[in-house]
Amino acid sequence: MAQSKQIPVEKNKYYRTTVEDLTHEGAGVAKVDGFPVFVPKALPAEDITLKIVKVKKNFAFGRLVETHQASSDRVEAPCPVFGECGGCQLQHLSYEGQLAYKQRQVTETLKRLGGLEDVVVHPTIGMEDPWSYRNKVQTPVGERNSSLIAGFYKQRSHELVDLDVCMIQNEANDDVVQGVRAIAETYGIRAYDEKTHKGTLRHILVRNAKTTGEQMVTLVTKNATLPNKANIIRDIREQYPSVVSIVQNVNPKRTNVILGAETNVLWGKETIRDEIDGVSFDISSLSFYQVNPVQTEKLYEKALKYASLTGEETVIDAYCGIGTISLFLARKAKHVYGVEIVPEAIEDAKKNAVLNDIDNATFAAGKAEDVMPTWQKQGIHADVIVVDPPRKGCDDALLQTMLTMKPNRIVYVSCNPATLARDLATLTNSGAYEVKEVQPVDMFPQTTHVECCALLVLK
Ligand code: SAH
Repeated sequence: MAQSKQIPVEKNKYYRTTVEDLTHEGAGVAKVDGFPVFVPKALPAEDITLKIVKVKKNFAFGRLVETHQASSDRVEAPCPVFGECGGCQLQHLSYEGQLAYKQRQVTETLKRLGGLEDVVVHPTIGMEDPWSYRNKVQTPVGERNSSLIAGFYKQRSHELVDLDVCMIQNEANDDVVQGVRAIAETYGIRAYDEKTHKGTLRHILVRNAKTTGEQMVTLVTKNATLPNKANIIRDIREQYPSVVSIVQNVNPKRTNVILGAETNVLWGKETIRDEIDGVSFDISSLSFYQVNPVQTEKLYEKALKYASLTGEETVIDAYCGIGTISLFLARKAKHVYGVEIVPEAIEDAKKNAVLNDIDNATFAAGKAEDVMPTWQKQGIHADVIVVDPPRKGCDDALLQTMLTMKPNRIVYVSCNPATLARDLATLTNSGAYEVKEVQPVDMFPQTTHVECCALLVLK
């Protein structure tokens, strides 16, 4: 009790103060007598009144009640469900403000978590039009008054809200989601209910390929049986000629993980085809593919520039997915080795090499941290290693392998500045490498997510 007396804020009380900072989750940080209060939708330098909604030992959460003096970076959030949905966190911040925030976030994280003080972090590469950029939508399906609805879960809840247009989503994908929802309803398909574990349709996924316009529909169902399957397929084909692939994914588990292990092509191709700077890629339902095609090209160009290839180099692309970066680099390298944990993605990568007449790329399925030491034992020496791990960053065994392989350059593509900082610290603290520069690329406008490409060179 003695301790709580020192806390200068109380639940349900109002305070007027100035916002000082923005958290990595996009909430404003206001101080009341030095005590931090996190206030969603408040921006730095704003003079606000907040209401305390929750008090913790070292901080509190507040709600923005009134803005007395707005930030010059404040804009009207265009989406009607901004704040309710949780998909976007920064629509109220000007796009220039978002890009500066992301550069700052990277610089600060490298310092704070990596002890990397003097690294050059370039201004974030942004989009000309930072809307409608996503090429993949995954929509949960539910029921209201015995109609099917497809939309989004309210932030921090499992309440499904109907929404037919998402402003960061490709419009054609939104259209197909709603069309498929209506078709499923026509044929009496019931939504899966997570409480009773009954019903059929769990999610509708739609992915599109920007350059060809091809679309893939994946219906995630609880069981392998899909009533009225033939009619559903026929109607989707009739109404959406750009859909070239209809896939069913079966997820029988009680889980909020979207995809299950079993996938069946119901109709059409197994993949859709996209192109990045003249390289074609066939992408299957389970494979990872970057969600922002416009920015992906800029990101890969940066990775290519950092790799500084002359045609003589052997390159390893760890966490290679369907071989996107590998094949992008293979055109300029002697040989590229790609490794990836998802076997379907490696199948895609091998086919994609053939599709592009690229014969200097070798792909292996497995954990990068297991496969790379095997390559090393086989006498493969890499001049350049590219890593592009998921959010948790590189496995330590993989970092240690890189340190013994000693490539001249390491190009680190990261979707999480915190693990980037940790891994760059491991590589530089060894004394072998120095970080030359870091380039943030805005792959996810309107959200707090930051993608980076970092260059390390052997000292
Ligand atoms: N470079 C690719 C994919 C990046 S996403 C692109 O730009 O498209 C990260 C990839 O790492 C995913 O495809 C994921 O399946 C894979 N992955 C995750 N853990 C892995 C591991 N331990 N070893 C190899 N690949 C892994």
